[in-house]
Amino acid sequence: METSHGFYKYFSDVFKDRWPALFAALQKREQQVARRNNLSPVDDAKTKKWSALPEKSELPGCYWLAEGEPCQPERNADELLDVYIMDPASVMVARALDVQSGDRVLDMCAAPGGKSLILIEGLGEEGEIFCNDLSPERRERLKKVIQQYVPRTIRDRVWVTGKDGVQFGLKEPNSFDRILLDAPCSGERHILENQAAQDDWSPRRTEHLATRQYSLLAAALLAVKPGGRIVYSTCSISPEENDEVIKKLLKKKKTQVKLIDAETGVGGERTEYGVAFLPDTCGFGPLYYSIIEKTGE
Ligand code: SAM
Repeated sequence: METSHGFYKYFSDVFKDRWPALFAALQKREQQVARRNNLSPVDDAKTKKWSALPEKSELPGCYWLAEGEPCQPERNADELLDVYIMDPASVMVARALDVQSGDRVLDMCAAPGGKSLILIEGLGEEGEIFCNDLSPERRERLKKVIQQYVPRTIRDRVWVTGKDGVQFGLKEPNSFDRILLDAPCSGERHILENQAAQDDWSPRRTEHLATRQYSLLAAALLAVKPGGRIVYSTCSISPEENDEVIKKLLKKKKTQVKLIDAETGVGGERTEYGVAFLPDTCGFGPLYYSIIEKTGE
């Protein structure tokens, strides 16, 4: 098992004494929350069902599911689903974009759409969002999620597009108030579910992804308006795909960017340029995010 050994050895060198516990935690089921669909009026009986579960003040509207808790979303009176089951760190990342009413928002890699729903809630009565994803199959899931959770009256301000995110840079410069770049990444949790993926893994894989992620981030920087905000996130534990991507941006575009302090929220830990949620300490994730403001053109 030379290459599996490569995976283990690579991250053992990165995380040192912490790695055995992190490796074990990545193979356990992660903590999830049932996030209330605030776009849909909720009838009392259903609210009661979810509100019997614990809620934390730092993450309002999210009910913490115990392991094995039955968690089937149900339809409200308006036929929309009442909760979306997701990783609590994903909620914190999407909220960190701080979407305001009237914003023009881009969710550059949006499918299946759990974070898009939070951005749509931020829009309130005005503004529009482009939920983009390159994959046609995943876009179908995204459209279904939007239909299941977003009222018709709001859907006409929600556009689903299928571009390569890199294209937004040249085609729509200085156009968006807010951009979420939840980038395609290594997803080590998924690698560990699949022995073949573990065996195929090599450091080149994470280096290659980091190059793609940087291209998408550079495009997001072109596409966001001066004074606008980008949240960059991944579900990888690889520093190459996280802090190193931000470091490269700060080096290459230093006159155009400033980092905004990212909150650790529930269970996050500071890294050099952002915050990471790692399952050995918080029981969910992995998820990394960093917040970037465009200061000039
Ligand atoms: N934000 C999503 C959510 O919270 O439900 C998860 C996004 S997932 C981490 C990354 C997505 O990026 C995948 O759906 C993948 O199809 C999409 N993707 C990969 N390369 C892309 C590209 N060049 N442009 C746009 N989307 C891309």
